[in-house]
Amino acid sequence: MTVDIPAAALPIELQRFEAEMRRHDSACWAFDIARARTLIESVAAGQSPEGWIEALLSNMVVVEANANAVHLFGSYAGRRRMLGQSILGFWPREGWPILADLIVTAVTSHPRPHTRKLRMKSLVLRQTLFTARMCDHPDLADIMLLAVTADPVDERSFWALRVSEARYNNLIHHLPFAFLEVDSRAQADIFDDMRRKGLRNVEAYLDTNPTDILRACEIVRITDVNESAVQLFGARDASELIGPVDPLFSASPETAKRVMIHHFEGHRSYSEVIKLWTLDGRLLDVSLSVTYPTRPEQLDITLIMLEDITERLRTEAQLRQLQSDYTRAARISMLGELASSIAHEVNQPLSAILTYAETSLRWLSRDDANLEKVAQLTTRISDSARRAAEIVQRIRGMTARHVPRTVSLDLNEIVDEALHFVRHETETRSIALTVRLGRELPKICGDRVQLQQVIVNLLINAVQAIQSTGSPCGAIRLATDLDERGAVTFTIRDDGPGIAEADMSRLFQSFFTTKDEGMGIGLAICHSIIVAHGGTIGASSEPDGGARFWFSLPASR
Ligand code: ADP
Repeated sequence: MTVDIPAAALPIELQRFEAEMRRHDSACWAFDIARARTLIESVAAGQSPEGWIEALLSNMVVVEANANAVHLFGSYAGRRRMLGQSILGFWPREGWPILADLIVTAVTSHPRPHTRKLRMKSLVLRQTLFTARMCDHPDLADIMLLAVTADPVDERSFWALRVSEARYNNLIHHLPFAFLEVDSRAQADIFDDMRRKGLRNVEAYLDTNPTDILRACEIVRITDVNESAVQLFGARDASELIGPVDPLFSASPETAKRVMIHHFEGHRSYSEVIKLWTLDGRLLDVSLSVTYPTRPEQLDITLIMLEDITERLRTEAQLRQLQSDYTRAARISMLGELASSIAHEVNQPLSAILTYAETSLRWLSRDDANLEKVAQLTTRISDSARRAAEIVQRIRGMTARHVPRTVSLDLNEIVDEALHFVRHETETRSIALTVRLGRELPKICGDRVQLQQVIVNLLINAVQAIQSTGSPCGAIRLATDLDERGAVTFTIRDDGPGIAEADMSRLFQSFFTTKDEGMGIGLAICHSIIVAHGGTIGASSEPDGGARFWFSLPASR
């Protein structure tokens, strides 16, 4: 909106008006009413067309404002940005009718000043007095002066307000996080319309009416930002960010919808991690937290806090990668300990294939070749080949680089699969393996390979513990169960030497080992896998000798 530069007399007139108010803390403004004059006169004559209040106020143009007016109504925009704007954007909606009425009276009964008293929820002041009169100066015939003053009954003076606002501004401007102050008053119409429709599913409504979101992003405005926000956005200064909120959501358009829904539904706050395009073209990962106005019907100040977490997410991803590499290295080293078992396991079906093939050839070379017998042997060959392939596949699954995948799992199945890896170890060492699997256990959530790794690790440790006693035989007992808290448990007991009291606290620490060839990473990895699955792991020495290791995992819902 453009306006003529008001006459030089204006500042003097405004000062006089301030003095008239006898309170130097009044917020005083001057408006050009030229564009609204015809409408004012027709309202004064008793003709009030539909929507006249908004039409009138939108044509009242701010031409001057003293420091208190800037502070109270336009602090975010500053005086420069207030000038030339209609009063509409600076005035709480609930005060529109009384202001419009006051303006009509002041224009039509010039030059007497007119005063109205108003309680305004959206201002910090409880009781507010408005005083309006037209300028006396002949060069300022279209200029109206308006003062807003705290009623003496209101114990909170402008000064108290000023101190509290200054404290707030100070805080916001010096916080290390980016803060945006957003004025969503213009969104009221969209919300009113949605309320009138009595929507049950706001999300579905906005999905079919995306223009409402686009419109809200254009009319809801960023009105103030702190220094950290300027830096985060790579802006030259705050003014580059003042304006519609839509650039905030350009990389995460769905977020705008969710922010809007939470506001509409009366939530106090909303947070999520979003992608953000900065003004200098960087794409950041940002944690966004929105704090809505205390009363949802008040749409004025919404605070948005942004924290750049790009670096943190990158470091976390690197750490995850490192952890996954470490876990895989431990798996490969674990399989190394089972090398002879694995060779034996693969060898078994291969030897069988060889035997069946040789026998088939013999049958075929006879004059009365028994084709039925050959067919039988060929079926066995193919079964054995399939078994060999399965073994290779299982080992490959353990050694392959894989991104951990959380799926619903049956712990009993995992125990079963893990046993394949160690069965040969226990058989050749005459270790009696007892397995008691709990019935109808609830499922757990987790990564199949990692949980197999934990169980194989505990099994190898148990075999090695028994072996270390030099005894020609031993026993391992495995069990799965449901504990009293509803978690699924796995327990393994052996009759090895047990765990020395002094070692108990270091058992799950990396590189703790009592074995000559040990690396001391097996239990540390088991611990980190179980913790990452939301479970707990522990160990104890059994009263009658031997060790007991257990872990429990939450049942999936
Ligand atoms: P490593 O097997 O390479 O030593 P682990 O982290 O698997 O690494 O085990 C760490 C230590 O915990 C072992 O060196 C041993 O002292 C102890 N330990 C693990 N399992 C048992 C067990 N079943 N009985 C006795 N001690 C055990």
